[in-house]
Amino acid sequence: MTKETFTFQAEVGKILDIVAHSLYSEKEVFLRELISNASDACDKLRYAAISDSSLMDNKSDFKIEIEANKKDKILILKDNGIGMSKEELIESLGTIAKSGTQAFMETLKNKDEKEVQSSLIGQFGVGFYSAFMVSDSITVESKKAGSSEAWSWTSDGKGSFEIDSIKKDDVGTKVILSISTKDKEYLDADRIETIVKKYSDHIAQPVSLKSSKKDEEDKVLNNASALWTRDKKDITSDQYKEFYHHVGMAYDDPWLTLHNKAEGLISYINLLFIPSNRPYDLFNPDRKANLKLYVRRVFITDDCEGLIPPYLRFVKGIIDTDDIDLNVSREMLQNNPVVAKIKSAIIKRVISELKKKANKEPEEFAKFWDAFGAVLKEGIHEDFTNRDKILEVCRFKSSESDKLISLDDYVSRMKDGQEKIYYVSGEDENKLSQSPHLEGFKAKGIEVIYMTDPVDEFWLPSVGKFSEKDFQSITKGGAELDKIKSDKKSKEKKKDNKNIDKLIASIKVALGDEVKEVKTSDRLTDSAVCLVAGEGDMDMHLEKLLKQHQQIDSTSQKILEVNPDHPLIKDLLKIVNNDNDKQVFDDASWLLLDQARIIEGQPVSDPNKFAKRMNTLLQKGIGL
Ligand code: ADP
Ligand code: MG
Repeated sequence: MTKETFTFQAEVGKILDIVAHSLYSEKEVFLRELISNASDACDKLRYAAISDSSLMDNKSDFKIEIEANKKDKILILKDNGIGMSKEELIESLGTIAKSGTQAFMETLKNKDEKEVQSSLIGQFGVGFYSAFMVSDSITVESKKAGSSEAWSWTSDGKGSFEIDSIKKDDVGTKVILSISTKDKEYLDADRIETIVKKYSDHIAQPVSLKSSKKDEEDKVLNNASALWTRDKKDITSDQYKEFYHHVGMAYDDPWLTLHNKAEGLISYINLLFIPSNRPYDLFNPDRKANLKLYVRRVFITDDCEGLIPPYLRFVKGIIDTDDIDLNVSREMLQNNPVVAKIKSAIIKRVISELKKKANKEPEEFAKFWDAFGAVLKEGIHEDFTNRDKILEVCRFKSSESDKLISLDDYVSRMKDGQEKIYYVSGEDENKLSQSPHLEGFKAKGIEVIYMTDPVDEFWLPSVGKFSEKDFQSITKGGAELDKIKSDKKSKEKKKDNKNIDKLIASIKVALGDEVKEVKTSDRLTDSAVCLVAGEGDMDMHLEKLLKQHQQIDSTSQKILEVNPDHPLIKDLLKIVNNDNDKQVFDDASWLLLDQARIIEGQPVSDPNKFAKRMNTLLQKGIGL
C-alpha cells in the first residue's frame, strides 16, 4: 500500500547495463564494495553518537554479519551502522552522487565499447551497483539511527526500484542479494571467507559469517582492527593495497606508502598513499584534499581543510591522533593548533620521502613526476616555508637531456660565464624544442629548461632565483650569449655592420608601431627572425595564457630579432639601399614579422594583406 516505484537516474541505468553485461572476471569484488559501505556506515554512526549518545541504541559493538542461504540462494549483509532514511535510499541508491562511481562515469565518457567498459569496472569498483553482477534482484532494508521508521528498497537492476515502508527493530542496514544461479559459488562459506580475507581484512569492524549449524559460533573472517594501528611488519603489501582501495576510492596500486607513528609533543599515526595514476578530479577547481581524520580510531571527517595543503591533494589515506578532543566539531578543526602541527609534520615527511625516491630511484620518480609534478609545483608558489625543499625535488626536461633533471643538476652544468638559469615556456616540449629562440643556446651547448606546466608561470616570477642564480626566459630581453664560453665550435660570423644598421632601421620604418623595436639577434642560427619580449615585459607564454583566460585585453609590443647570417636577410641587405625595391622590401618585412608570429602561435597581423604580400613575392620568385 505504501509501495512507490522510481526510475533510476540515466547514468545509473548505464552503469547497471554495463554491470549486467559485464564479462568481468573478478565479480567477487562486489563483496568488498558492500563491506566497505557497511564499514563506512559504522564509522558515521560512531561519529554521530559522540554528540548525541541516544543514537547508539545498539549497546553492543559495531559489526558486519554475512549470512549465506544456499537453499534459497540468498546472501545477506547486515550492519549496525547509521542506516538510511527513505530519502537517502532514493538518493544514494538511485542516483550517482558519490565518488568511486562518479570517477567511473567520467572515464566512460570517452569510451564506448562494452568490453572496454567492463574491464574498467575492475579499476574503479562501481560501489553498491556491483552487487548486480551476481544478483537477480536486491533488497535493501534500512533504519536510520534516531528514526522510528524503516524502509526497504528493491530492484532487479533493470530501470526502476521500489520503496516500501517496513518494520525493522534494529538500526542499520541489511542488504539481501538474490544470487543468480550461475553465481552460486558466492554462497559457499570457503569462497566467502577467502574473498573477505583478500579484500576486507583491514576493515576495523569484525566481519563474521553466520554458521550454518545451530549452536556453532559465527566465525570472524577478518583481522578486525584498524590496519594503521597494527605493527608495520605484520602488514603485507596486499593488505596495504586493499586498505588504499577502501580509503582512497582508487583501484590502482599505491606508488608510495607511508606508515608512521609519531610520538612526542603530539602523537599521531599516518598511513598515507601516493597513487600511481592521476585521479580524474585532480585539477578540479576545489583542489580538495583526500585525507581522513580519525581521533582515537574514531572517524571524524574526510574534509578537514587544514590537514594537508592543496598542493599535496594527491596524497590519500588517514591520520589518527590522540591529541584532539573527540567532541571537537568539524568547524572547530579549521583553526585547531594540533591539526596545524600535524600538517607541517606531514608536509615535511612527504617531501623528504619524495626527495629520497627522486635521488635513489629516478626512473620510478619520473612516473610520479609525470602524474603529480604539476600539482606539487603549486607549493613553490603557495608554501613559502617549504619552497626550497619543494624546489629540490622538482624535475624538468631540458634542451640538453632526455632524462628529467633537477635544478641542482642544471646549476652544476652551467657554462663558464653563464650567470642565469635559462628556461623557455610553452605548451609542450616538442614545440619548445623547435623554438627559434633556442637555436643560439643549442649551438653553444647551453642548457635551457622546458617549462611546460601552466603553474610554472606563477612560481617562476615569485621565486626569481635558485642557488643565487636568476631564472631567465630565453624569449625575453637580450640573450647576451657572447659572454658565455662554449665548448662547441661555432661558425665564424662575418658581419656587414654598415648595411645591417640601415636594414634594421628600414624594417622598423616599414613595420611602424607593430613592433616595439627591431634588433639583430645573437640567439638565432637557422631561423631568419623571432619575436621576443622586452626585458621588463611579461613573458610571452604567460601573456598568451592570460589572454586566453581573458585576464588581460591587450598584449604588449614585441621586439623583432633578425638573424644577419640568414640568406634571406643577406638578400634583403642587397636591396635595402635601392629605392626601386622599396615595395618588395616592405612586403618582405611584413612577411618576416608574420612568420615570427606564426611560429609563436599568434595570428598574423592582417590575413588578407598577408596573403596578398605572399602572392606578390611568390609570383616574383616563380617569374624569375
Ligand atoms: P560510495 O561508497 O562510493 O559512496 P556506493 O555505491 O558504494 O558509493 O554507495 C552509495 C551510497 O549509499 C553511500 O555513499 C552511502 O551513502 C549509501 N550506502 C550504501 N550502503 C550503505 C550502508 N550499508 N549503510 C548506510 N549507507 C549506505
Ligand atoms: Mg561504496
